[in-house]
Order: sequence, then C-alpha cells, then structure tokens
Amino acid sequence: MSQDNVEKKPKAIALLSGGLDSNLAVRMMLEQGVDVEAVAIKTPFCDFDCGKGCGHKVKEVADELGIKLNTVYFGEEYLRMMKNPKHGYGSGMNPCIDCREMMYGAAKKHMEKTGADFIITGEVLFQRPMSQNNRALNIIEDESGLAGKVLRPLSAKHLPPTEAEKTGLVKRENLGDIKGRSRKGQLAMAKHFGVQEPPNAAGGCLLTDPAFSKRVEDLMNHVKDIPSINDIELLKVGRHFRLSPNAKLVVGRNKDENEIIAALAEDADVVLEAKDYVGPVCVLRGKHDSELLHKVASIVLRYSDAPKDVASKVKVTVNGVTSEIDSVPGDSSEIEQLRI
Ligand code: SF4
Repeated sequence: MSQDNVEKKPKAIALLSGGLDSNLAVRMMLEQGVDVEAVAIKTPFCDFDCGKGCGHKVKEVADELGIKLNTVYFGEEYLRMMKNPKHGYGSGMNPCIDCREMMYGAAKKHMEKTGADFIITGEVLFQRPMSQNNRALNIIEDESGLAGKVLRPLSAKHLPPTEAEKTGLVKRENLGDIKGRSRKGQLAMAKHFGVQEPPNAAGGCLLTDPAFSKRVEDLMNHVKDIPSINDIELLKVGRHFRLSPNAKLVVGRNKDENEIIAALAEDADVVLEAKDYVGPVCVLRGKHDSELLHKVASIVLRYSDAPKDVASKVKVTVNGVTSEIDSVPGDSSEIEQLRI
C-alpha cells in the first residue's frame, strides 16, 4: 500500500434526517475514522429524509456532529413521481420505495461529486414496513445504481457485507445488529455516544398520516397533471370539502389557519368570509357558478358565529373584486358528507 493510500481517510455521504438513527449512523462512522458529509432531503411533505426526521433540526445535528450539510429540495419532480409511483404506495399515500430511490439518487450524485467512497443511512432493517425490509432495500439500491455502495451501520450485521466492509474501509465487527421497531438498541447506542435527549421517533412523514393521505388522494384524483406546491401547502391547513370534480373548498379552523389560507389564495380562487360575524377564511378553488357560490356561502356561515335559520351576508372576493351574497348556515350533516 502506498503512503497516499495509508493517509487517505475513507469518505462517506450520509443521508441525514436530524432523527436519532441517522445521527447514530454518522457517529459510528466518525468513530471508525471515516470522513462524513451529509445530504438532507426536503420534500413538499417531509422536512428531512425519512419520516422520523420530520421537523427535527437537521442543521443543528450536522453542526453538533461537526459535518458539512448539503440540503436538496425535491419539488415538482417529487409530485410527478407521486402521481404514479413505480412501486406504489404504502398504507397511506406514501410512495416510500420511489421516494427513497430519489433520496439515494441525490446522495449518489453527491458521492460522485465529492469522490466519496460509499453512502450511509440510518435505516434499520424491519423498522418501517414498506421500505426497510430486505427486498425493498435491495430494489432501492439496485435501481439507484448503488448495489454494494450503501452501508446501514445500525443493521449492518443483518445485511450482506457492502463494498466498504469487504475492502476494509470500515470494520464490520464494529457495526450494529439492530433490527425491528424497538428503540432499545438505538437508546443504548445514544447513551454510548452521549447523545443528549435523543429525539423521539415520530410516525413518519405527512404522507403516512391517514387523514392527510385522504386529502392527497383526493387531490391527485382530481388534478389533470400534477398538483402545484401551493395545492400541497393548502392541504396542510383547514377543513377540506370536495364540492364537484372540479371544485374544492378549504375552511380555516382558527386564526393562524385563516391567515395561511388567505396568503395561499391565488388570483383565480374565490375567498369567502362572513361579513358581520366572526368566522373562518374560506377558499374555493376550481370551477364555480352562482349556485355553487350560494352553497359555499352556506358552509361559510355554518362555521361562523352567524345565527341559524337567519340570512346573513357573506363577502366574496375574486381577483381583488369583493361582492356580497346572502345565505343561511347550511345543514351540518349535509356539509359533513362533502368532507374529504
Ligand atoms: S415516510 Fe416514505 S414517503 Fe415519507 S419521507 Fe420517508 S420514505 Fe419518503
């Protein structure tokens, strides 16, 4: 072995989520003398990497680990993939295998750019039903053109040796043998590394939330091509109602949501509010006529402080022009049937 080879540290690209598992995976590599750089993935549905990282402060984690962080954002291309994921969806609208392939792709690009030797992830065998079983891990790896290049330090002893292990860049005997959904192994490791207050494991990204998934499914079934990022942001707030194949209504539930909904309203949207009573800001998106506007006005009043069985005014704004219509609060059970 030449002097150069002796001195060159192995280098890994970590898919970092800010959650505990990828944090530990990085620490295991640093402990073995591997140089690590991180890639963090944002999608319209998930702040970072896979579910457990959503909302965690990935930048703080990277700083604490003393590693460089590169953030990659998937916007429209993610929504295009979601419309028809090659490997389908999980229990909700979570296209985990295709999603992980995109994440691996981003890590691969960075590996090639930086001349790194391999990729590491915090994946734990059998922790997540769709994307963390042997078959799924192999598919994701093969289809990303990364066969043998992805090391999962936490579960490595349950998986075939990777190139990094075979060539001696990392010591397999020092890797983990964690599998399954229990967090015991990770918590013991967190203690070993002195990780303070390890973040709790969350259930997954927004796409694994059943109620949110229903909204996503409804949207995907009703947009011609792909939804816009604005459509997705709107899914995250308010009550949603499907009024027709071409129109939906979003009704704010509190002051914060009212502000967000008003800010997300686009020129072609209709914004409605009770004129004389406290109530929600509502956005009607899609085709509408006067009959539909009256129906929507009755929903707007139903969620306001307007008295039942008495006509009240609703302000209707389209393209900056405001008019008023009279309506009475609609019947709750009928309105509930429109709920997504
Ligand atoms: S839970 Fe699935 S869809 Fe969501 S970020 Fe993780 S891999 Fe992607």
